[in-house]
Amino acid sequence: MTKEVRTRFAPSPTGMLHIGGFRTALYAWLLARHHGGTFILRIEDTDRERTVEGAIRYIAEGFKWFGIEIDEGPSEEELKEVESDVADLPAPGGEYGPYVQSLRTEKYQEIADRLIDEGHAFRCDCTPEMLDKERAEQRARKEVPGYSGYCRTRNVSKDTKHVVRFKMPYKPELEMIDGIRGRISWDNVPLKDPIIVKSDGFPTYHLAAMVDDHEMKISHVLRGEEWIPSTPLHLLLYKALGWEPPIFCHLPVVLGSDGKKLSKRHGSTSWSSFRDEGYLPEALLNFVTLIGWSPGEGDEQEIFSREELIQKFSLDHVNPSSGVFEYNKLNWMNGVYIRALSDEKFKELALPFFLKQDIDIPEARWNAIAPHVKERVKLLSEVPAMVEFLQEGKLERAMDQMISKKVPVDLAKTILDGAIAKIEGLPDFTALKLEESLTALVEELELKMGPVFITLRIAVTGKKATPPLFESMEALGRDEVLGRMRETLQILEHDS
Ligand code: GLU
Repeated sequence: MTKEVRTRFAPSPTGMLHIGGFRTALYAWLLARHHGGTFILRIEDTDRERTVEGAIRYIAEGFKWFGIEIDEGPSEEELKEVESDVADLPAPGGEYGPYVQSLRTEKYQEIADRLIDEGHAFRCDCTPEMLDKERAEQRARKEVPGYSGYCRTRNVSKDTKHVVRFKMPYKPELEMIDGIRGRISWDNVPLKDPIIVKSDGFPTYHLAAMVDDHEMKISHVLRGEEWIPSTPLHLLLYKALGWEPPIFCHLPVVLGSDGKKLSKRHGSTSWSSFRDEGYLPEALLNFVTLIGWSPGEGDEQEIFSREELIQKFSLDHVNPSSGVFEYNKLNWMNGVYIRALSDEKFKELALPFFLKQDIDIPEARWNAIAPHVKERVKLLSEVPAMVEFLQEGKLERAMDQMISKKVPVDLAKTILDGAIAKIEGLPDFTALKLEESLTALVEELELKMGPVFITLRIAVTGKKATPPLFESMEALGRDEVLGRMRETLQILEHDS
């Protein structure tokens, strides 16, 4: 590519950053990085009614969490104009700013005036009532409803309340090469003089985004496929203004496993809920990139570092048909990433998850068990349930899962008595020694491993599913383990 690759993510700050939108940002960022280009954040806040305070912060924090650096974007001064709390937000600024559309309205007005002066647009003062009436009449005549062109030649004055409409040429024939889908052509564009400036003076997306993409020298516009029907208008705007359009790249939607558009019904969709559930940003980044992109035919690789993604990413391998968000696959991948963490990093990342639940564990116990927990969780949010038995104080035990036909109360007592004797006699209280002596106990009692170890596990940890038994015992320490076994004996005594 000869031209500098400049891509942008242009969210409307109307709410949460949906993971589908995030994928668009990710591809734009990867494309820029791959070509040593520039990635830009632009805030499209011209829909004043839908703009939500805090949404820009939410988006920018999301980028930070994912480790996506913004090369150009709102400066601190710009952010302060639109957000009340801008502390710690990335605010790179740049030479094509402002990067917040509500701070660029004069620019759009200037271009709209130019379009009007050159006969490509006109002011329209039709009231909503007039337009409703017009549509009702068109429907009655079985015509496609839409603006009739009433104000095209009326020369509506600047001083009356008005909108600005683009004068659609008659049956334009258009085509373009989409960066993902290849050639797309239109021989009939059913758009009727669309509005480019609203009555509040703010531009619509169509005008604002085209002006900014041009002014900010965007080379590739990566956006959702829902914009394909509006693309003829965008191409016509470029033509009217005598500008060369960027390469439009329309990304397909992300679907849930039922084939419907991904939504909250399927699971988490906003970046912060993934974070709160204990997904790692690197895993999510890897996973989301693979929804709709693959390195190429026959390449089975699934785990990619950021650097590898940057190196391998290209638009030709973006799939033009919809990709499916498979939560199970994401969970698997997250587990792979968790296991690859150093023990120290795992401890640092997992700690807040159990502190949040008021689980307080002596540090030595946590240090001892953490490497074993790391091997067994897919999500960091699974950690608290795995380590709560390490707390000091009273342990709740699932006694109903210990006592059964196979392990009646008397047998449970025998198992516990035997284990206590073995543990008291152990020279070294290590997982290895525990395994040897307690396996010997199984043989001596002529029992199976299952019932013996379930009994001991519930006695010591309270439940059936925990980190491995001997390592759990080692983490608790000999006195605690013996204490818990004796306490269980008392409970059994009491019950029988
Ligand atoms: N503001 C538009 C949206 O949030 C951006 C579309 C685009 O990337 O051009 O849908």
